[in-house]
Amino acid sequence: MIDPLLEIDEFDSAKNEDSPEKLERRRPRTRYRLKDDTGFDEVPKKYRRFYRRWKGKGDSLAPNEVICPVCRVVIRSTRELRPGDRVYCMPCFSRLTVVRAESGRLEARVVY
Ligand SMILES: [Zn+2]
Repeated sequence: MIDPLLEIDEFDSAKNEDSPEKLERRRPRTRYRLKDDTGFDEVPKKYRRFYRRWKGKGDSLAPNEVICPVCRVVIRSTRELRPGDRVYCMPCFSRLTVVRAESGRLEARVVY
């Protein structure tokens, strides 16, 4: 006998819908080993590896980095960042959410 619930599940179109966002979420995140000290002295030594200064033109962000929109410091994570992630900017005490900007880049927005 076929379980009617199973049968319905097989015809669930949403199940086979692999949007880029869904695929991105399923892919395991890349892990990053952060250097102990980036020389960022505005936070206690213990947290320095999670922040660095934006060097301006010629600098680029790694997949585990976002810029704080408030103080322009680069926030670094031990894993690849994705839209919806929450990050904390210790230098300016901002709570941020990672979003996918129209340009395709990851950006941080302030959470109020
Ligand atoms: Zn900040």
